[in-house]
Amino acid sequence: MSNPKLIVVSAPSGCGKTTIVKEILKSHPEFHFSVSATTRAKRNNETDGKDYYFITKEEFQKHIENDTLIEWQKIYDDYYGTLVSEVDKSFACGKSVVFDIDVLGALSIKKKYPEDSMLIFIDVPDMDILNERLKNRKTESPETLKKRIDRVEMEMKQKTLFDYIVINDQLQQAVDEVEKIISNNFN
Ligand code: ADP
Ligand code: 5GP
Repeated sequence: MSNPKLIVVSAPSGCGKTTIVKEILKSHPEFHFSVSATTRAKRNNETDGKDYYFITKEEFQKHIENDTLIEWQKIYDDYYGTLVSEVDKSFACGKSVVFDIDVLGALSIKKKYPEDSMLIFIDVPDMDILNERLKNRKTESPETLKKRIDRVEMEMKQKTLFDYIVINDQLQQAVDEVEKIISNNFN
């Protein structure tokens, strides 16, 4: 058996990374999902402790002070970070970890775990599709939608630093592609 791996899935908001990660986790119960901490408000379809640990800015600040985050970013006026405990508990039982984090967080993971991480960038065929997906998701106000779109250019610039780029046009095709990348890395 190979070493546990860090499978990092990143993309600008709306490209479909969370959808793809959920599909991957359904077919890989042997993987652990790294539940991030965030200060953003919980969406209706989210569960605390499963999708995120929803915490206050003060609690997040404590994590920074206590050095209990592997990486963190301020994104759209909120804080998001990967907890050391999420990776430690997976590695302790030999499990690989799947991350759904932003592009800068992904690059930090690569820096810390250059040998064992695989960085997968989820892209979209064009910006119109991205806009449409974000609007159809119905989770954003006009203001938060704009903040997400404003960050896309910077995020797209990072994609050449990723190990793999998968275009999420047809969902099942994109999931299959990610599956293939993962299985190639375990052989
Ligand atoms: P992200 O996690 O990257 O912000 P989501 O996974 O939330 O993106 O996907 C954004 C929206 O697009 C969701 O409503 C999701 O159901 C939808 N979506 C994801 N992939 C596709 C696809 N291939 N075709 C059409 N809609 C998609
Ligand atoms: P959302 O608010 O849409 O759930 O997430 C916003 C962005 O934050 C997404 O790109 C998501 O992947 C990213 N994100 C979620 N958790 C983390 C984390 O722990 N660290 C970093 N750097 N980004 C994260």
